[in-house]
Amino acid sequence: MQPSDKALVPFVSVDNMMRLVHHVGVEQMIKQIAAQIEADFKRWESFDKTPRIPAHSPHGVIELMPTSDGEAYGFKYVNGHPKNTSEGLQTVTAFGLLADVYTGYPTLLTEMTMLTALRTAATSALVGKYLAPKSATTMAMIGNGAQSEFQCLAFKAMCGIDTVRLYDTDANATAKCAANLKGKGLTVAPCKTPEDAIEGAQIITTCTADKKYATILTDNMVGPGVHINAIGGDCPGKTELHRDILLRSKIFVEYPEQTRIEGEIQALEDDYPVTEMWEVMTGQAKGRTDDRQITLFDSVGFAIEDFSALRYIKSAIEGTDFYEALDMLADPDDPRDLFGMLMRAG
Ligand code: NAD
Repeated sequence: MQPSDKALVPFVSVDNMMRLVHHVGVEQMIKQIAAQIEADFKRWESFDKTPRIPAHSPHGVIELMPTSDGEAYGFKYVNGHPKNTSEGLQTVTAFGLLADVYTGYPTLLTEMTMLTALRTAATSALVGKYLAPKSATTMAMIGNGAQSEFQCLAFKAMCGIDTVRLYDTDANATAKCAANLKGKGLTVAPCKTPEDAIEGAQIITTCTADKKYATILTDNMVGPGVHINAIGGDCPGKTELHRDILLRSKIFVEYPEQTRIEGEIQALEDDYPVTEMWEVMTGQAKGRTDDRQITLFDSVGFAIEDFSALRYIKSAIEGTDFYEALDMLADPDDPRDLFGMLMRAG
């Protein structure tokens, strides 16, 4: 029995996502997703918002990230398992779904492991556009795992970075990142220590994975005027920065209710003042106010960024063959005759 068109859900596999990214271009796609995220952050108040829903285990975390703007509903399923890489598996994998609020029917199912790396990079660079020193040309990239190349290319495409200084505790990760960035228009400097990596950098991105309170940067390493893009600390008990850096910085977040649970600001009092990025983007709050200020984006990844990315993909695949039609909704001719449909199939 053939399902009717209205019951078929477009599905973007990893293979098709990679074809789409090559078709659009990595940097171009990051810029387009960033534009969608910026547009959605500017209508922040029209979204249903909740901190993501985690299931913690000794092995890692599995999370659901839902949101809706009243017309579309989206969620992402994502895991965080830092121990995975030692077993040949990824730290972060994800898939996501978009649905029509009017019917409740899904309108898109897609891989989101690639898409998360793209949207995280897009968010980081978008925030960097608002907060980083305008003259920034060099970024330190600490943690050279799965997200790192996407981050470097996003800051090149959107913030004018021409040099990246790489550091990872695992020299193989740095070598992999440097090799992948070859010929991509960046000067790449592999470094042996984090101190060396941040030398001369106006932007510092920390993107490490360890399920503990780590100290990737200590206070004495961070000079005035830098922008810190801290994306690796995104879970209770998992942070990257020494508390003293937080106290010297002006702190910007996505959604404080979630960041206070998961972000670097776990180390601070519950009412410690932070600025929400949507307020900076709409002009209701100030971003960087002087050249010597340290700005810190305490990024954890929020559902609206995934919603923006899902809607971007939905429109990008229209009229293309970058998806398959998935038979995932039962559609009996008589909506109440689900059992009859099952019997006829026998
Ligand atoms: P990954 O495991 O592929 O890479 C992490 C890298 O960090 C590894 O190469 C590891 O060797 C390195 N590392 C660990 N401890 C280090 C240290 N002390 N100094 C330097 N390097 C160190 O992970 P990934 O997919 O690149 O993700 C990195 C982190 O970013 C994870 O914690 C993940 O949860 C987080 N993340 C955040 C967002 C967000 O929106 N904020 C999105 C995606 C991933």
